[in-house]
Amino acid sequence: MSNPNLIWNKEFETMPREELRKLQLQRLKQTVERAYHKVHFYKAAFDEKGVKPEDIESLDDLNKLPFTMKKDLRDNYPFGMLSEPLENIVRIHASSGTTGKPIIGAYNSNDMNAWGEAMARVYTACGATSKDVVQNAYGYGLFTGGLGFHLGAERIGATVIPAAAGMSQRQLMLMEDLGTTVLTCTPSYALSLAETMAEMGISRDRLKVKCGIFGAEPWSEGMRAQIEERWQIDAYNIFGLTELGGPGVACECAYKSEMHIWEDHFLPEIIDPNTGEQLGYGQIGELVLTGLTKEALPIIRYRTRDLTVLNAEPCACGRTHVRMDRIKGRTDDMLIIRGVNVFPSQIETAILRVPDLEPQYVIIVDREKSVLDNLEVRVEATESLWSGGEAAREAAARQVNKEFQQIVGMTASVKIVEPKSIQRSEGKAQRVIDKRSL
Ligand code: ADP
Ligand code: ZN
Repeated sequence: MSNPNLIWNKEFETMPREELRKLQLQRLKQTVERAYHKVHFYKAAFDEKGVKPEDIESLDDLNKLPFTMKKDLRDNYPFGMLSEPLENIVRIHASSGTTGKPIIGAYNSNDMNAWGEAMARVYTACGATSKDVVQNAYGYGLFTGGLGFHLGAERIGATVIPAAAGMSQRQLMLMEDLGTTVLTCTPSYALSLAETMAEMGISRDRLKVKCGIFGAEPWSEGMRAQIEERWQIDAYNIFGLTELGGPGVACECAYKSEMHIWEDHFLPEIIDPNTGEQLGYGQIGELVLTGLTKEALPIIRYRTRDLTVLNAEPCACGRTHVRMDRIKGRTDDMLIIRGVNVFPSQIETAILRVPDLEPQYVIIVDREKSVLDNLEVRVEATESLWSGGEAAREAAARQVNKEFQQIVGMTASVKIVEPKSIQRSEGKAQRVIDKRSL
């Protein structure tokens, strides 16, 4: 556990909730004014709902405002959502955008400052200080991960190694030679690097790494246990998205119990994804975020499609900002198999409850004879299970199925595959192959 007393910005991170709410309202009003008067898209959307910036008198009025969807950002590609001329913009990023045009992120110098602040809080919450050596193995480039983590590491005065994703052997060499203490990358890449460490025969005591800050893709508690065991580090979860500026929207503190959302910068809501109704704390639904300090590209009630729960209970670390649970899934990665809703995260949880399996898997969905959906899960065996023979492998497959059935209430066709046969990831892992849509 990192030092729970380390807090980057005590004034804001531990602000009494009443005061925080006042600040949120003041910032919300500013953002709404800016959006309405400077971005044509917002003016049109507000007008259609018959709402004006002056109608926001309290935080409860938030639900009068229209939602912003991914499609809106795409339709206004590249600069339609900007509230300022390009001359004021100092940075552009873009989301991976596997289909069609990407989503643009644009930052003026105040936005960069706020992003650096959010990321500085992240590092500090995970126990990093100016004494640390941060090896940043997120992808550099248009993706917000690399440069976002870089910015925060510099802000806290740490020594940052911009290693970028990939070239795993070199990562391990740098880690040993430069005395890396903090590793930042996707959780799937952290696992892959742990394998490289073993393959290169580097013993753990030659490395100084003490913690890792992992995000950008879903991962389970079981995966955390695997990473912490293989690396002998504390592994922290961080959340963010390009639309809200990048990584650093929320992060775990020393207690590793859910992620604090930096609420002086981001106003969270949970809604029912079907009706759009606001839900309360403790209820699972879609996370909706409003940027409270975003200037160049104001974002109001952005529907993230990420499913989670908010928790407003005070945290032992002293931060007053609400916490969000691990992402349970995305409304758009939910698989509907024979009418049952299944999230890849539930499959991962089932796999990691069974010993002797590697946390490496792919999910293949197919429709046999165009009537029945078939859910196939391929999981890698450990070396010892693989050499243990057919019967042991079948027992492991049955065990996964039993766990899966307990979680989801249906069965899958589980295949135990050879160690190292599933493609390793350097960035966001691709774990689902849905052949039905091909
Ligand atoms: P893209 O949408 O192209 O993947 P982003 O990098 O902006 O680009 O991805 C943001 C999304 O990544 C989030 O909406 C969420 O679904 C996912 N994500 C980010 N961090 C986490 C995390 N810690 N746990 C689960 N999902 C995450
Ligand atoms: Zn906390």
